[in-house]
Amino acid sequence: MAACVELKNVTVVYPNGVTALSDVDLTVNDGEFAFLVGPTGHGKSTLLKLLYREETPARGQVLVSGWDVVRLSPSRVARLRRRVGVIFQDFRLLPRTAWENVAFALYATGAPYREILRRVPQALSEVGLLDKADDHPSSLSAGEQQGLVVARVLAVRPPLILADEPTGNLDPRSSRHIMQLLEGASRQGATVLVATHDPAIVNAMGRRVIALHRGRIVDDKPEGGYPDDLAHG
Ligand code: ADP
Repeated sequence: MAACVELKNVTVVYPNGVTALSDVDLTVNDGEFAFLVGPTGHGKSTLLKLLYREETPARGQVLVSGWDVVRLSPSRVARLRRRVGVIFQDFRLLPRTAWENVAFALYATGAPYREILRRVPQALSEVGLLDKADDHPSSLSAGEQQGLVVARVLAVRPPLILADEPTGNLDPRSSRHIMQLLEGASRQGATVLVATHDPAIVNAMGRRVIALHRGRIVDDKPEGGYPDDLAHG
């Protein structure tokens, strides 16, 4: 199976001298669903940021679908970002209707108008928000807002989906719903990487678990639970 994500001997040092990742080697194959776990501040977000070129490593190689992400020209960085759907804890929705939020995401990828008209209702219905198409995010619950973010990503059908603490602001029921939607995206072929420090969602899913501690991968299990020794801290 082809690798969607490959990190080879990657070290990231921030300008303030903090080493956020040290000598990280990691391969995530096309269509895989994996959790990236570890306590806050141990490098999960930094690893995801490498994959959409928000950060670059001091050393090492970062490959996404075979592209050497560190060496991309600015126009290629834009193309990379269209291939990567990112979901954050704090939603980052536009103050426009649910329909427009999804439509703008598609528009940004250059999708033709007819395609936008077809895919917006499809994506909203996949996450159960078709009846809220005209609502603004401010009138949606936290779970619905994150559902809308997922609809925005699903509509674009990126081959790689990165979620950074996607359930951090959600109650357990909404969290389960969001995780089921991400699992559905992976069944349809997307590679999904979810960073979280929440043992409950990791243990409920029985998927690959990659554990980071102080910027190093300390554990990587195909059907792991949340490592006990990293659960507090
Ligand atoms: P996590 O996602 O696991 O919470 P991060 O990747 O956000 O961890 O952070 C890893 C380390 O890098 C932490 O020590 C954090 O303080 C530091 N860090 C993260 N972003 C920056 C930044 N922009 N500038 C300086 N240090 C940073």
